[in-house]
Amino acid sequence: MSSEWILDKNHLSYWLRQLRKEADLIGPLRKPGGDIVFESIERIHEIFLDLPALIPGPKEFLFPQYEKLFNKRDSKVEELSIKRKRVVFGVRSCDVSAVRLLDRFFLDRFEDPFYSNRRANTLLISIVCNNPEPTCFCAGIGTGPYLREDYDIQLTDLGERYLVQAASKQGIRAIKAYSFIFSKPTRTDYDDQFEVQLSAMARFQKRISLERVRSMIITGKVRDTFWEKVATRCFECGGCVYECPLCTCFTVIDRVFGDEIERARIWDACLFKGFTRLAGGVLPNERMVMRTKRWYYHKLVHYPEVIGSFGCVGCGRCTIVCPAKIDMATVAIKIKALADNEEKIIEQKE
Ligand code: SF4
Ligand code: SF4
Repeated sequence: MSSEWILDKNHLSYWLRQLRKEADLIGPLRKPGGDIVFESIERIHEIFLDLPALIPGPKEFLFPQYEKLFNKRDSKVEELSIKRKRVVFGVRSCDVSAVRLLDRFFLDRFEDPFYSNRRANTLLISIVCNNPEPTCFCAGIGTGPYLREDYDIQLTDLGERYLVQAASKQGIRAIKAYSFIFSKPTRTDYDDQFEVQLSAMARFQKRISLERVRSMIITGKVRDTFWEKVATRCFECGGCVYECPLCTCFTVIDRVFGDEIERARIWDACLFKGFTRLAGGVLPNERMVMRTKRWYYHKLVHYPEVIGSFGCVGCGRCTIVCPAKIDMATVAIKIKALADNEEKIIEQKE
């Protein structure tokens, strides 16, 4: 269930300025070199909402690439955590879906205190994508371009105004505290919202059913020779894992600075040979094909079994970064072609 309002675009900066009084405001900014990144917002008018498909998602703010776990000096262990609240504005729908999967990983069975602390203090304000990129395929997975549930605040751009939906207590609070700038939606607003959603859905160039791909894999119809072909192309650059908004591979390192020891958690990649290295140097997944299969099985078989959702939200970032063209969408399309081919052979036999 969500609560809904209309916000005139002229009031957006006032609202964000008020939210910034209570929390760090993070949003997309265009850097001098042209890159667009999520950063703390000093000047609200500099927020840049025409987001490219490759813009990093909010994962970094919840599960940082380098996170100090503690410092140890003179036997005193100092815990590090974030107490200040944060509002991340301008997030894409698929990235909100990815955060829900990060929640399952970091909070379900064992509550990771660092993630938990950051998550509890973070409010996500997402914007419905009304112009998906050619690499996006969230529509086929149901993780975008708009969300039906499980968001904090979702905005739909209706031209001069936003339709604002809030589905979490935190989200409703962030609107009700400034209720004088929000009004009730009318029938016309809902009609316009429906039109925006329909037109966004119609713009997708890729329609991929991961369910079909999963069923091919679990019925043993994707042979090892297929995975060998995929694996031999991989450069082990880790781009797909690092850019994926829900990949959670990490390792823990200790660094010594004089009399100070710092323990940190850093991102890792399961496609790297040493990822599961055991004591004594044993590498259980030494062959690249085993690691490639593991990445795909993990996202397409293990996730649905354990969590009930695919370990992919169709953001298309791996399509953009993979120099070998063996990203999720490309591999899924190739597996689907195997399935189509198999169906043709069955039809010809009948
Ligand atoms: S596997 Fe690729 S398309 Fe899927 S969520 Fe990760 S980066 Fe995005
Ligand atoms: S981005 Fe492509 S080449 Fe790089 S590790 Fe991932 S699959 Fe391999």
